[in-house]
Amino acid sequence: MHTIGHWIDGKVAMGTSGRFGPVYDPARGEQTASVALACPDEVADVVAIASRAAAEWSGSSLSARAAALFRFRELLSHHRDELAALITAEHGKVLSDAAGEVARGQENVEFACAIPHLLKGSHSTEVSSGVDVHTVLQPLGVVAGITPFNFPVMVPLWMLANAIACGNAFILKPSEKDPSPSLLLAELVQQAGVPDGLFNVVQGDREAVGTLLTHPEVSAVSFVGSTPIARHVYETGTKEGKRVQALGGAKNHMVVLPDADVDAAADAAISSGYGSAGERCMAISVVVAVGSVAEPLVAAIAARIPSVIVGPGTDPSSQMGPLVTAEHRARVLSYVEGSESEGATLVVDGRGDWPSGFYLGCTLLDHVRPGMKVYDDEIFGPVLGVVRVQTYDEAVALVNANPYGNGVAVFTRDGGVARRFQLDVTVGMVGVNVSIPVPVGFHSFGGWKSSLFGDSAIYGPEGIRFYTRPKVVTTRWPDPSTSAIDLGFPQTR
Ligand code: NAD
Repeated sequence: MHTIGHWIDGKVAMGTSGRFGPVYDPARGEQTASVALACPDEVADVVAIASRAAAEWSGSSLSARAAALFRFRELLSHHRDELAALITAEHGKVLSDAAGEVARGQENVEFACAIPHLLKGSHSTEVSSGVDVHTVLQPLGVVAGITPFNFPVMVPLWMLANAIACGNAFILKPSEKDPSPSLLLAELVQQAGVPDGLFNVVQGDREAVGTLLTHPEVSAVSFVGSTPIARHVYETGTKEGKRVQALGGAKNHMVVLPDADVDAAADAAISSGYGSAGERCMAISVVVAVGSVAEPLVAAIAARIPSVIVGPGTDPSSQMGPLVTAEHRARVLSYVEGSESEGATLVVDGRGDWPSGFYLGCTLLDHVRPGMKVYDDEIFGPVLGVVRVQTYDEAVALVNANPYGNGVAVFTRDGGVARRFQLDVTVGMVGVNVSIPVPVGFHSFGGWKSSLFGDSAIYGPEGIRFYTRPKVVTTRWPDPSTSAIDLGFPQTR
């Protein structure tokens, strides 16, 4: 069994803490590696390295940064299958899904290639007699990213491309459940010509995170993960004076109105609810069936489930792989086991005889209601619940009463209702007949309410703002004819 180390100053470092965490192949249910877990001193050493690298990089030309990003983009294309294989080996998702994750992450690198344009400040000439004003966007220095297990390539790319393009050094603390893809990303960043020390990977757990959140030289922290940890990261980091964006968990609803195309809605519910075994923060986990659509919709979803092929992510015929760990599978199972006593109807039961590995089949629950654990909690597994309501207003009230506000979808043929829905819901990302409305890389991603702590969404234009600090410069060039003593507060004239 091999040991997975850190990436520090341009090379792999095995670490000195003596602490390790297990890494599994979820398809076989066996431990395949150990990952080093950094201690506070190791993290502090990395911050010092990153700090030196950032000081130099902040003065690099925009064209040099863009050239490195273009090369990185090409390297990601060439190594897409290799990255996907690493994702599948430790996360379990099917290879095609893993390759899709790399492609969606690559969008963020493509966006950052435009950094010379994105960092343009603004200029006003003659704001007062002989006076001009311009703004500049400067880097923050050392910034850190703490990422979840479910997208070990895409979520780091949400952060690192913009962070480095803006002139910062970036320290990634990936999930300890699937740490390997981060090391290949680091190699590719190096091959692209980004100087050593600018992108470092520190493997670890809460101990490493604690040091990043309190180290005075870390200026900003991007976090993506579950809501309790997101809240903790936001509160701790901001108390330490850092800029923090902390994206949390989700409970995404798909509202299906009576006029919707039932087959299209059922296809979308299956794809979004069970893709990646439901381990996506934008997965639909609640179908809200409005009025007469409920019976045919539940029947259409149930009829499709037997055709979903569950198996190892490496098998090209598999459509859904296992869950990430035995522990997570047990947690998801506990919701299924408790659902009937809570009053839900188990329409399709995904438990059953699975080969070794952390598998659970597609599970469908009907007559789910708020107040049941299967409704109230984020399950993060292949468990879809149907809530039946009678009206559009009831559906919107349900969505808006939910503490999470990451994604939501409406399925209808009525453009007027869809338009009203976009404005009525208190959710950050809305899909109209689109069940996974993850914004493209040149827009920004962010939920509302308990799905995002902080004022800034992640990547896209908001990513550039997050990783830079604006400065406003007011200039007057010496002109003897306008020079005079004036102790009054400066006014425009
Ligand atoms: P998690 O919160 O358990 O872990 C996320 C990161 O935080 C990991 O790097 C982990 O090592 C670290 N961490 C865990 N416990 C910690 C602690 N006590 N103190 C400090 N750091 C700690 O999340 P996960 O299980 O890896 O990922 C799944 C969760 O992430 C789900 O809730 C999902 O909805 C969410 N998610 C959200 C988004 C989004 O964009 N909003 C995207 C992907 C995943």
